[in-house]
Parts: sequence; structure tokens; C-alpha cells
Amino acid sequence: MASFVHNALTGRAIFGIDTIKNLPNELGRLSCNRALVISTPQQQDHAEMVRKLLGESAAAIFAGAAMHTPVEVTAAAMRALDENQIDCLVAIGGGSTTGLSKAIAYRTNLPQIIIPTTYAGSEMTPILGQTEDGVKTTLRDRKVLPEAVIYDVRLTLTLPPDISGTSGVNAIAHAVEALYAENKNPSTSSMAEEGIVYLARALPIIAEDPKNMDARSDALAGAALCGLCLADVGMALHHKLCHTLGGSYGLPHAETHTAVLPHATAYNADADPAAMESIARALGSESAATGLYELGHA
Ligand code: NAD
Repeated sequence: MASFVHNALTGRAIFGIDTIKNLPNELGRLSCNRALVISTPQQQDHAEMVRKLLGESAAAIFAGAAMHTPVEVTAAAMRALDENQIDCLVAIGGGSTTGLSKAIAYRTNLPQIIIPTTYAGSEMTPILGQTEDGVKTTLRDRKVLPEAVIYDVRLTLTLPPDISGTSGVNAIAHAVEALYAENKNPSTSSMAEEGIVYLARALPIIAEDPKNMDARSDALAGAALCGLCLADVGMALHHKLCHTLGGSYGLPHAETHTAVLPHATAYNADADPAAMESIARALGSESAATGLYELGHA
């Protein structure tokens, strides 16, 4: 076997249905009692639910997270920290909310509990993307890894079917590029193939029946696996294209991934036939690119 380097990242993840009830206990494990609860404006109801669950341990809500982590939003959230003597961050939402929490942790070292409600996978990675003056840059730093992740399948039931589909393909994109990464390794390759299997099985069911708990559970578990792949190995053409398009033109992240992925995969097909076989096998399709195109249209 060829040599490889695998960077295992430590972290704690709780997965299941109604696992959000563990949140007060997780805060206690961190010895924290003045949380800043973070969400997007669209998920203020989720933030309020967290505040109720935490009682006095929720010191404030900042419901201003936005896609691509604009630095001015981070600056506004930092002011909320100072005004409320915050000692930890609790983020409930998709990659935008997780991104804001990571941006604050990067600047302050505050501990984070992330409650993901999409399939972006950011909660598993030491990667932070930020946008300033229309330019998006990324960095890798273990400082931005959360102390705990709570995956509660029930919280994903409200994710609209169209966003569920594109978000799921965003997760698959991490796995696809992990399978042909320059620094791929057996650990991420097996997680990547399994992650695609879970999501390819779940997404068509969710499109028809968004409240299907088994499919939602598969999709969230698959997204966690795909996020672990993104955490470990380098991404290539597909992620770089989406990153530049998203940051420069404010394009929606998951939709951009869904549109670009079949084409980037077809472009890369001849460079790594073994990766293409894995992807096609996981999708149950004859060709990786065609299978991804069809999944995006399911
Ligand atoms: P998002 O977080 O912007 O969510 C999309 C919309 O869906 C938002 O309005 C959100 O409030 C809403 N939503 C989320 N969950 C919901 C639920 N369960 N019910 C109802 N509404 C819900 O979108 P996203 O695609 O998850 O994240 C995109 C961002 O994440 C981008 O900024 C991207 O760069 C970043 N990202 C970062 C990494 C990383 O490792 N650093 C990985 C993937 C994505």
C-alpha cells in the first residue's frame, strides 16, 4: 500500500433524535454558564428554543449569521460578547451559523457547542471561510473546532426539501473530492464512500417525504462522515470554483455546489478512474458524473 498521512481530529459528537436535551449537560461539562446563542434571522425560533432550554445560562442571542461569514457580521457579534460577559458559544443552524461561531472562536478561543441543522458538515472541520470586501479566504486552525457537536435529527425535519437536496449534494462534494485528493488515505476514502451511500439513499426519499425520520437520520449521519473527509484531506477544483463563485458573487453555497459538482467530476474523471468507480458504486450509477447529475435532479 502507498504511504499516507492521516490527521485524526479529536472531538465529541452526540447523534440521535431529541439529543438537544443534552445541551444543558454539555454546557456543564465545559463549566460554562453564559452562552451566546447564535443563529440566522430565519432560525430565530430555534435560537429561542435553545434559550428556553438553557434558562439563565443563555446570556444573549445573536440571530444575525449570514452566508460566507462576512467579517462585519462577526464584528457585530463580537460586540454582543463584550456586552454580555459571554463564556461560550452555542450555534444552532447550518454552515452559515457554524461559520460565525468558528469566526468568533478563532478570535477569542471561546468553547463552542454546535447544533447542525443542514448537511454542510462544517462542524466537523478545522476550516474557517470568511468574506471581506467581496473576497472569500479560508484558513485551517484547530482553534475553530467545536468542543461538542449535537446532531439532533428532529431539528432537520424543517429544512425545506429543496435546501435539503442541495445541502446533501454539498456534503457529497466533500466526499467526492476526498476520494481523488492528492493526500487521500484509506480512512477518509472509506468514510467518503459510505457518506455518499447514506446521502444517495436518503435524498430522493426526503424530496418526496421531508418528515421521513429514517431518511433524515441517514442524511445527517452521511453529512457528518462527509464533513470528516473535508476536515482531513485537501479539496480541489470543485471546491475552489464554488468558493470563488460564492465569495465573489454572493452565490448561494449549496446550490452552487449542486450545479458545479457533476461538471467538475466529469472534468476530473480521467485523472482518477479508481475514485470515479468508488463514487459511481456509492451512487448505484454507471458513471460518477452522470449519477451526481441525476441525484441533483431527483
Ligand atoms: P445556511 O447555513 O446559510 O442555511 C441555509 C438556510 O436554511 C438559512 O436561512 C438557514 O437559517 C436555514 N436553515 C438551516 N437549517 C434549517 C432547518 N433545519 N429548518 C429550517 N431552516 C433551516 O446554508 P449551508 O449551506 O448550511 O451553509 C453555507 C455556509 O457554510 C457557507 O458560508 C459555506 O462557506 C459554509 N461551509 C463551511 C464549511 C467549512 O468546513 N468551513 C463547510 C461547508 C459549508
